[in-house]
Amino acid sequence: MSKPKLAIYWAASCGGCDVSILDIHEHILDVDKNFELVLWPVAADFKYKDIEIMQDQEIFLTLFNGSIRNSENEHIAKLLRKKSKVLVAFGSCAHLGGIIGLANLYKKEDILDTVYNKSISTHNPDKIIPKTTVQVKEGELTLPKFYNYLRSLDQVVDVDYYIPGCPPNPEQVVSIVKHVIEKKPLPPKGSVLGAGEKSQCEECKRKKNIKKIREIKRIATSIPDPETCLLEQGFLCIGPATRSGCGVACVNAGVPCRGCYGPPPNVMDQGAKMLSAIASVIDSESPDEINKIIEQIIDPVGTFYRFSLPTSLLRRSDI
Ligand code: SF4
Repeated sequence: MSKPKLAIYWAASCGGCDVSILDIHEHILDVDKNFELVLWPVAADFKYKDIEIMQDQEIFLTLFNGSIRNSENEHIAKLLRKKSKVLVAFGSCAHLGGIIGLANLYKKEDILDTVYNKSISTHNPDKIIPKTTVQVKEGELTLPKFYNYLRSLDQVVDVDYYIPGCPPNPEQVVSIVKHVIEKKPLPPKGSVLGAGEKSQCEECKRKKNIKKIREIKRIATSIPDPETCLLEQGFLCIGPATRSGCGVACVNAGVPCRGCYGPPPNVMDQGAKMLSAIASVIDSESPDEINKIIEQIIDPVGTFYRFSLPTSLLRRSDI
């Protein structure tokens, strides 16, 4: 009997999602035993044309990691959508835009100028910026078009499920693989798999509602008390605005939650929710003092929208 086909794709991302698949250790043998792998560019030399000649929905499951930053990402997202029965936005970049979505704060020209001209590690005396087509004596060379902004996967194609996390937890990967192997019914379309419906704070065991803050602290320069809520100690923990399901892993290790699971279902905008959470723990009624405390937040957008800027309520006027 033929095995269900599996595709794994890496669009605009760091590659950590692919590593989380490798981190399932011996379960990778279950994947091999139960699926026919048809695309995994980071691991094997499959060709796009092999996917293009497939029937529509011939691939049972596609785990698509990374966001849509260029024309190749968009082309493959549309191709895999057409050829897949189940398309999963895998990891924070596909789900919400991810850390690289913070580049939406800048225009394409500024990003290229920084990377190819201003970066101190770049030697580019002729100020050459990559072009989408170049003529050489052997013919025409092409590169994907770098878009003016970045989009999450569901801003480009219809997505069936989401697996959150930066990167997703390997247990989430094992769980979805087993789900398919055991032929269990699929969850409702749009489900966020391997995640809870509450906020991180509701699962966090640290003592809370006991302190208010007069300063913002950083984990690099202050040691937190191991039992008290990190936010109530002044550390910017994004737990109040983040979906549960990871087991509060970072906070249990003494590191403030960074928000990679995205907002819980009842929160429309992760950053706005976090601003409201901070307002509730500031120990002052004086506008001047409040301003002084808030000014200690070094990178507000990068902190509160670290993973979710492209899918937040904050949009550029040219998007
Ligand atoms: Fe726990 Fe962070 Fe929420 Fe505090 S803010 S209760 S440390 S998850």
